[in-house]
Amino acid sequence: MSVRIGILGGTFDPIHVGHLVAAVNVRAELGIDRVLLVVANEPWQKVAQRPVSAAADRLALVAAAVDGYEGLEASSIEIDRGGVSYTADTVAELAALQPGAELFVIVGADVARDIESWVRLGEVLERATLVVVNRPGTRIGRPAEHGPLAGRRVEVVEMPALEISSTDLRERAATGRPLEFLIPRGAIRVIAERGMYGGHR
Ligand code: ATP
Ligand code: MG
Repeated sequence: MSVRIGILGGTFDPIHVGHLVAAVNVRAELGIDRVLLVVANEPWQKVAQRPVSAAADRLALVAAAVDGYEGLEASSIEIDRGGVSYTADTVAELAALQPGAELFVIVGADVARDIESWVRLGEVLERATLVVVNRPGTRIGRPAEHGPLAGRRVEVVEMPALEISSTDLRERAATGRPLEFLIPRGAIRVIAERGMYGGHR
């Protein structure tokens, strides 16, 4: 059987248990060998709206969070490529690096809802199965008959609903409220060491 690789892209500013619970549930449900948590270098949909933490810091958070967990890996593929991050480029690069691998692009329901905005979406869907996980705040709709996902490989994986976001966690950190159990311990340590989010932990 061919190797199955999951791609969970994100800004991870910071990583939290919502990302990790999604990764492990998709991995188990679809028999995926490795889930790559791909840290966006320049998340083009976000940089215009708010300051994004340095890519190296966000990668360090993800690496600390997955350390010791079988089947979860921090990926710097978009940081190494540099510039603006498009999933289409990442999928193409992984397909070239791992011929014969089966690729799965994992997104939360909020991202799935806006998937039409993705640059070169068709290329992503040619090369990978789209996996959608539930996320509080957005209902997962059925792909419309004439929509961008019609006739494409799409899977839905259920996970425990976790109403948690990086946006809320940045605010928590800045106001000195606890991050414990929402973010893995190792990543909290990185936040403190690097003085991220202005919370002076
Ligand atoms: P921000 O608030 O800064 O947008 P975020 O919490 O949405 O941060 P991202 O890095 O934007 O985190 O998300 C990366 C991926 O993880 C997206 O596909 C997103 O839908 C998914 N995701 C994030 N949080 C959750 C969650 N709590 N449950 C399910 N999926 C999630
Ligand atoms: Mg988000």
